[in-house]
Amino acid sequence: MRIGVKIVAAVLFVAVCAGAAGIATDDPMIEFNQDTYEEIVVEYGEPAPVHEISAVYRSRVLHRSGVPLAVKIEQPDYSAPGAYEVRYSASYKKLAAEGSYTLRVVDTTPPELTVDEDTLAYSSFDSVDGDLTDRVVVTDEGERIVFSVADSSGNQSEKTVLRDLTPPVITLGQGLLDFTCFDETDGDLSSEVRLHESGGILYYEVSDSHGNAATASRKVAGNGRVVYLTFDDGPGPYTAELLDTLAQYGVKATFFVVGRSEHLDLLPRIKAEGHSIAAHTYSHNYAKVYASVDSYFDDLELVQQKIEEQVGERTVMVRFPGGSSNTVSRQYTPGIMTQLARLLNERGLVYFDWNVSAADASTQATTASVLGNVKNGILKQDVAVVLQHDVKDFSVAAVEEILRWGQANGFVFLPLTPESTAPHHHIAN
Ligand code: ZN
Repeated sequence: MRIGVKIVAAVLFVAVCAGAAGIATDDPMIEFNQDTYEEIVVEYGEPAPVHEISAVYRSRVLHRSGVPLAVKIEQPDYSAPGAYEVRYSASYKKLAAEGSYTLRVVDTTPPELTVDEDTLAYSSFDSVDGDLTDRVVVTDEGERIVFSVADSSGNQSEKTVLRDLTPPVITLGQGLLDFTCFDETDGDLSSEVRLHESGGILYYEVSDSHGNAATASRKVAGNGRVVYLTFDDGPGPYTAELLDTLAQYGVKATFFVVGRSEHLDLLPRIKAEGHSIAAHTYSHNYAKVYASVDSYFDDLELVQQKIEEQVGERTVMVRFPGGSSNTVSRQYTPGIMTQLARLLNERGLVYFDWNVSAADASTQATTASVLGNVKNGILKQDVAVVLQHDVKDFSVAAVEEILRWGQANGFVFLPLTPESTAPHHHIAN
């Protein structure tokens, strides 16, 4: 309670003669008691202290001990801080007296100020001024942020939030997947670290909850293998099953899709589950696709439209039917692969060949042959870009064992990005 009652002058006499001749000789007077005040101070919102003012009528002759009188007090409406005059009066017959004191209503209570340390959202409320959120002053001092606000009586509130400026620390161990990440504020962030590969370097990136970022990197060579599983010609009837398997192992892959597929409705799921979507072609018809440079780009435009319809964006990653080294295209347009490779680059598109083939297009191919080809191929590469087809059930059937084997050996499976190592075959047309 902040009621302060200040007794400035304890005694106040006011006497007024009535002016009647007979009474004047008697020297009568009205006397107020000593509990009167010149000023009372009260905190805003608190009730004013109750105090008694009493008065007596006294005269030398008849009423030496005094006649108690009723005192009339006019309480002002003091609904805001300020000084109010409180008037009181008493009368006896024709004799009247009055007095007053000041009731000072003050606001010494600072506004409430609340700041959320994580979101830095703030609000302020004052008992007199109401919502002061708009008057909060935020001062960014780098390592700390100071919030301050003052009410109309000059009462101040201040809060300081220390800013987390310390980035997490990524510690790399022996294998590519052997790393930890710890943040002073957030604790263990190891599971938040994102990996990507470019130019044979594996990058580890993380941000803490306050946006402090950390990066670590190292050469893939000598520390393990990065494996990009890529699937062409789908989505197909086995793609959903393949997605289940990839999800089970927490692995992201890349799908070079064909626009005329009847399973394009799987593209949103593919994207949602973190895989990369890339363009193979719309028709996959060599005679059409390689009929001319324009037919290639017309066909590519069609598959891009299909992809955009499904996932809301196009891709900059493409793969040629037959790869960039195909010679089939020569029978339709001599030199077209050389031109297309250059034109794709000019258009900001990136083409990917592969350096590990499952050879699952062969009529003799089996799950076992796929497995053998993929394992042997991966072991020859620091960064392996594996070609499989998700329209082949026996090839999809090999994926689980590839993942189990790869993870047991500490290989890093990643989805392709435009920056990833893109093995290019020797262009032969
Ligand atoms: Zn293909």
